[in-house]
Formats: sequence, structure tokens, C-alpha cells
Amino acid sequence: MKVLLGLSTDELCSLVQEHGAPAYRGKQIAEWVYQRGARTFEEMTNIPEKLRSDLSKEYAVGRAETVAVQRSRDGTLKLLLELAAANKLKVKNQTPKVQVKSQKLGTTEGFGDMVETVGLPYADRFSCCLSTQVGCPVGCVFCATGLGGFSRNLTAGEIVDQVLAVQEAARTRVDHVVFMGMGEPLLNYEATVKAMRLLNSELGIAMRHLTVSTVGFVPGIRRLAEEKMQVTLAVSLHAPTDDLRRQLIPGMKWCLADIIDACREYLQQTGRRVTFEYCLLDGVNDGTAQAQELARLLRGMNCHVNLIPYNPVPGLSSYKRPRKSIRAFREVLEGAGIQVTQRVQRGPDIDAACGQLKQVKS
Ligand code: SAH
Ligand code: SF4
Repeated sequence: MKVLLGLSTDELCSLVQEHGAPAYRGKQIAEWVYQRGARTFEEMTNIPEKLRSDLSKEYAVGRAETVAVQRSRDGTLKLLLELAAANKLKVKNQTPKVQVKSQKLGTTEGFGDMVETVGLPYADRFSCCLSTQVGCPVGCVFCATGLGGFSRNLTAGEIVDQVLAVQEAARTRVDHVVFMGMGEPLLNYEATVKAMRLLNSELGIAMRHLTVSTVGFVPGIRRLAEEKMQVTLAVSLHAPTDDLRRQLIPGMKWCLADIIDACREYLQQTGRRVTFEYCLLDGVNDGTAQAQELARLLRGMNCHVNLIPYNPVPGLSSYKRPRKSIRAFREVLEGAGIQVTQRVQRGPDIDAACGQLKQVKS
């Protein structure tokens, strides 16, 4: 069974024309899927019965089912989605909102069809943090997603679906999207780029309001630069030296010099300032000497550093969130003329903060 979700308005117009209907029916279907959140053909009441029944022989809408919604004290929402492929595209009208209290860290065995996604309310915007893979093949040593192994890539439709699900759960429109949930977006390149285009064309989210975070997959950064889209590139560095970076991110072979080069290329092609993410781990990468090395590495570059104090991962006791070192680290970078922000921790009480998303058993 194929799915509608993931097709653009143009593609839907061609599809209905192949079925002998006028192109504008494709526009109407796009509106049902992306604006009105339809889960079944039955809901599409302005589409002729014959076209609906023809399409439904080959296609389902393909929405995931929201099986759990957790709400943090700070308003952050974490959704657990069962992907449509998992429930064999059976589409249920009811979406039970079960409260999930605790979930054990998993292995890949028996997993693979659930994904977590996060809704983040701010005073001036509503942001959604999307997953691009079920699990992650990179395996950063401090990340819950990496610990659970890798199951599969998400499709563009499954990525966009997360925004629709968050909009339904939060009863508000999402206007900013960060690709910072489970998975490495640039290792699922086509689906990620297609999802960004769909978020823009079908959901009306500005390209400038999309941020894609990568662990530093150099060929992906270079390819993204060629697209010349106005999305923000965020690159997870976490270390000022290749030795330390290899220890923290065993699954990525590119050296810092290659990563920085690719980022310069991105800046040149798009004119967009690059963000560097740096997860601060107490006693591991948070020393002032390391801050000085980082400043040297980034000297002369139009960039911005986002410090992310480590968020605890259940079952991972070897790392600690730093307490005292953050300010000094920040001051060294600022002293070198680098703009620095510190990421505000969101949703830690529901394990929705950076690095805390994980695979869940279906
Ligand atoms: N795979 C991509 C995007 C998802 S991770 C990447 O690694 O960039 C989003 C951000 O959360 C990354 O910067 C990542 O390093 C960070 N992160 C992972 N585990 C973390 C943890 N336990 N505490 C704080 N940040 C973490
Ligand atoms: Fe994958 Fe990013 Fe987690 Fe590393 S930090 S394991 S790349 S999701």
C-alpha cells in the first residue's frame, strides 16, 4: 500500500490526473491531508466517491497513530507515534491519549516502528523537534537515541506527519521546526530535504524557520549547501580536538578541519550563519583550555556557538551535567569574539530534552 502523506500538491495533482480527474482535485486532497489532518478518504467529503474509491485501492493517507502524549511542567509535549507502516496502514479514528510513565532503554530487537517527537511552546513561537530515523546509527556515547541502536530511516511523509501530530496534540500551529530529535538527518538525506520542502510548500513554514542539526556528516553538509535553501545548519561539534571527538562520536570519521571547511562552504553558498552545538560534559570537554582551542578552531568564521549542558540519560551514569564550568567556558568564547547562547533545558521531567529521546517498544 502506498501513502499520500509525503506527496506534494503538484504530485497529488498528477496522481489524480492519472486517475482521470482534474488537477484541482489534487489540490483539494493536499488540503485535506496537510491542512485539515484527514486520516481517511471518507473524511474527504468534497472529493467524488469514484476517485476516492479508486485511490483507496492503492493508497492510504498514511498518518501515524499518536499512542502517548506526555506534558512537561514547562509546557513541552512529547508524543509517541506508532508509524503507519507498523499498524499495516490500518487507520483508526480514535487516537488514545495514554499517559506513559516510564520506558526502559531498548535495544533494536523488536523495535522499529515507534518514534518520539517534541512540541516546544515559546512566548513568540511554537516549535517542533522532529525525528528523522528510528534510532540512530552514529552512537554518540552520551545520547539516549544512539544507545538504542538503529532500526530504519523515516520517509519524508513520516517526518512531516510529526508536525501534524504535534499541531493536533497542542491545538496550535507549528511555525518553527528543528531536526534535532532521533536520528542523524543527513544520513537520511533525501527524505530530510523532501520533508523540508513539504513543510515549506504544504504547511507554509518558512525555510528560515527550519534548522537541521547534523553530527558532522561532511558529504551531507556539502550536498545541502548545493541546494541553496535558506535553512539554518547546526553542527554538533562537542570537542575541539579530533581525538576527543572520536571518543565521544565513534561513528563519524570526518575530522574537524573537514567539517569546518564544509561549514564555510555552506555559509558561502547560502549566506546563512552556521551554528555549532557543543554538549558540555563535566570534566570531559568543558575546560577553559578546551574553550580556547574551540575559539582558535572557529576564529574568523561567521558562526554562533550553542552550549548544551548535558541532559542526563537514564542508564548512563558516566557523564554529568557541569555546574561551575559553563560560565568560564562561555566567557572564553565571548572573549574571542564568538557569539554564544546556552540552550534552555526543556521537558527534562518527561525525558524530552536534547539527547533523551529513545526507541520505545511497540
Ligand atoms: N543527530 C543530530 C541531531 C539530533 S541530536 C546531531 O547529533 O546533531 C540534537 C542535539 O542534541 C545534538 O547537538 C546532540 O549532540 C545533542 N545531545 C545528544 N545527547 C545529549 C545529551 N544527553 N544532553 C544534551 N545534548 C545532547
Ligand atoms: Fe545520533 Fe545525534 Fe544522538 Fe549522535 S547525538 S547518536 S548523531 S541522534
